[in-house]
Amino acid sequence: MQMGTNLPKVGSYNRAVVLEAIQVSDGISRVQIAKRAGLTAQTVSVIVRKLLEEGLVIEDGSVPSSGGKPRTILRVDPTAGYAVGIHFDPGEISYVLADLAGQPVAKLHTDVIPGLAPDAVIRQMARTARRMLGEADVPDDKVLGIGLACPGPLDPDGVMNFPPRLTGWDHVPIKRLLEEHTGFPVTFDNDAAAAAIGERWAGLARATPSFAYLYLGTGIGGGLFLDNQIYRGRSLNAGEFGHITVVPDGPGCYCGNRGCVEAVCCPSAIEATVRARLAGGADSTLAESTSAEGAHIDHAAICEAAAAGDPLALEVIGEVADRLADAAVSIVNMLDIDLLVLGGPAMHKVADIYHRVVAEAVTTRPLARRLHTVRVETSPIASDAAAIGAASLVFHATYSPRLGTLLTS
Ligand SMILES: [Zn+2]
Repeated sequence: MQMGTNLPKVGSYNRAVVLEAIQVSDGISRVQIAKRAGLTAQTVSVIVRKLLEEGLVIEDGSVPSSGGKPRTILRVDPTAGYAVGIHFDPGEISYVLADLAGQPVAKLHTDVIPGLAPDAVIRQMARTARRMLGEADVPDDKVLGIGLACPGPLDPDGVMNFPPRLTGWDHVPIKRLLEEHTGFPVTFDNDAAAAAIGERWAGLARATPSFAYLYLGTGIGGGLFLDNQIYRGRSLNAGEFGHITVVPDGPGCYCGNRGCVEAVCCPSAIEATVRARLAGGADSTLAESTSAEGAHIDHAAICEAAAAGDPLALEVIGEVADRLADAAVSIVNMLDIDLLVLGGPAMHKVADIYHRVVAEAVTTRPLARRLHTVRVETSPIASDAAAIGAASLVFHATYSPRLGTLLTS
């Protein structure tokens, strides 16, 4: 919960603080907002009146109060605005149409056709976004914008910068092109930061001041909220947890470092490890579906086998969980957070294993463990986290309180 300020020049900041207090609650009264945000009752009352007039907030019943008249409960009106979130992953594109409360109204996935030129892919994104809005009968004036979550690194103007798993996409101005093809403003971020914002706006971390998000997708990334603010770093690329070294003499990583979490824990690394052990004669049900080159062993099949108790799959996934736990302990030691969220599509079927191993490590190994515990949670929106997060980027950019706005005149 951020604190507001009663100085006269900061009306828009206070407005964002009040709106965020309403969004992160499950219904809140004016008195509670004033208490939590440190604002006067009068300031809250004036701001709430404007939010009601604008239709962003609704009054939704009342609760008894001690002595005085019943307190009216305020909520964000989910139908006041919509955003389309697009998660562009090298393997597939996920779309979510979300309402202002961050809840998905519609979802769909499309494959990325190998070799298709960037402009054609971006046109396809624009067409799909338009189709979703049309099918849900959302008029243009209720669309706050498009949120785009891309693999990093991204430059601050929304230009792709040597994305590691997307050949032909270097220097593609994806934000500008998507704006041209849709006619809507586009807010972008890297996929892991988008997933973190999604958790903050609509998920597990709504009332948590400081948390980190460990994102497991095609690659491994992260997002950070510190003291109620998203932390992006110098170039929008903070939270690259995937490139923490966890195996000092491990394999070289494309980033230039050695033994990175990503180099040993991402889906393609897991597939390579399983194939090598099968070739060495390891006992596994996966051996039955293997061609001579092991070409049919993919990450999804390995996770499925692990969930079914296959010894080789369990052994490899267990080792990956241990390396993720090493990284998690470093993250907790470095940032002193309240919550670590695990999420992303590569958690499918193995979320329980990763959660158990990581939670045990951050309960027993960080230096500050006797002062406070760090919660570890698995994102309930794991496979769509980045797409929901991308939609939330739009709401966050439009409505969230940012200390920087206090410094500009
Ligand atoms: Zn690396």
